[in-house]
Amino acid sequence: MVGKEQEEIEKELSKEYVTLTYADYEEGLKAGKLLGLKCAACGGITCHPMPVCQWCSDRRLEKIELSGEGEVTTFTVIRVASEGFEHDVPYIPCLVKTKEGPCVVGWLDFDAESVSQDVIGKQVKMSGIHTYNGDKFFSGEHVCPVFKITE
Ligand SMILES: [Zn+2]
Repeated sequence: MVGKEQEEIEKELSKEYVTLTYADYEEGLKAGKLLGLKCAACGGITCHPMPVCQWCSDRRLEKIELSGEGEVTTFTVIRVASEGFEHDVPYIPCLVKTKEGPCVVGWLDFDAESVSQDVIGKQVKMSGIHTYNGDKFFSGEHVCPVFKITE
């Protein structure tokens, strides 16, 4: 019985149960798609990639394409670059609450000199991606979604 349990635990921890990896998520972004997960148990939508539902922790997840639309929840302006971001400053990381529910981290396509709290609550749509290299701990290039205000 103990052996059987171990086998099940290993199966659950294997890639077989990972519906959407970060690599898949970034490939989706490169193809202009914001990918998320839909839970078969509660119907909730999760984004970014996770092995379990963000809302109920069930593992039965289906990969879906989100609309890329939502509203700005919060943002900040980065003016002092951390290692690997020297060519990116100033930039505006933002948190977008998607139409489907989950919040997604991305970059806001807006003038960093004139941005203000007025952008909070504004409707946005994913307009592209930003590629960044990050510091020595990053495993090469990564991408994140860029959002543009549509109202
Ligand atoms: Zn769920």
